[in-house]
Amino acid sequence: MKTGSLTGKRRVKDLLLQQHNRFCADCNAPDPKWASANIGVFVCLKCCGVHRSLGSHVSKVLSVTLDEWSSDEIDAMVEVGGNSSANSIYEAYIPQGCTKPGPDATHEQRTKFIRLKYESQAFLKPSLRIMSGKMNPPSSITKGIKDNLRSSSGSREDGVAGFIGKLKVKVIKGTDLAIRDMMTSDPYVIFTLGQQTVQTTVVNSNLNPVWNEELMLSVTQQFGLLNLKVFDYDLLSADDIMGEADIDLQPLITSAMAYGDPRMFDNMQIGKWMKSHDNALIDDSAVNIVDGKVKQEIFIKLQNVESGELELALEWIPLES
Ligand SMILES: [Zn+2]
Repeated sequence: MKTGSLTGKRRVKDLLLQQHNRFCADCNAPDPKWASANIGVFVCLKCCGVHRSLGSHVSKVLSVTLDEWSSDEIDAMVEVGGNSSANSIYEAYIPQGCTKPGPDATHEQRTKFIRLKYESQAFLKPSLRIMSGKMNPPSSITKGIKDNLRSSSGSREDGVAGFIGKLKVKVIKGTDLAIRDMMTSDPYVIFTLGQQTVQTTVVNSNLNPVWNEELMLSVTQQFGLLNLKVFDYDLLSADDIMGEADIDLQPLITSAMAYGDPRMFDNMQIGKWMKSHDNALIDDSAVNIVDGKVKQEIFIKLQNVESGELELALEWIPLES
């Protein structure tokens, strides 16, 4: 009906006039004239171009002034409430070393950030990670946003802590580990995730041990950091520590959940854990789909120790498979 669509358009324009919607959700350029109806953000022309390149299954782009909006699209947009609500979800945890582009950012900078933000959903807050499963992630995330906005506290999810999948940790090798005996060490690695602990075998008298050993951990909805500690095995006294590191599992699990069944995709990169001043990464660590599996190679500089590096390979195994 004519009057209905006029009222609808009015609602979108009223929303656009709110202060937080006067700047592009992705680059802060003033006066955005475009919207992603399924995500619920207003964006500038340049960012709109990137959104469009992601495909309408990720972001359904509409002009505020030119396009006809369906009542569903208007309802979705109004319910999310625009940029500050959406960004409080999609940009909840931007890691150090990843900067949000400004209005003058290059197309490459824009594309990188926007893909991480909406396609990989790499910056979501923990309580929403789990909602991003299955195919067609953006609409389920949008639903997640709405549910989250409705429940003022996050307590709704706390009661449903269940297993969401398994983490296969392959400990490949260590390099230049610290000396704890006379000339060498007998290293092994312990991983702790929540209440679980798994460990490798001991390699005798070797500062460059090769393990190639696979360990398995169960992962719950409320997963935290994966901690690893390297020890020197000592028959006579307590084992000496040879360094440690925390591994952020969020990039792996969030991107795996966002993509759903990895067997449906060709080999590609779907996420990244970025090196920063406050993590142990030697290099950025990409999350890839490789032959239908979600994998991540990690090169760690051991912390709180004089020397030592560790090479790991993670694989995410969702519950369904
Ligand atoms: Zn923009």
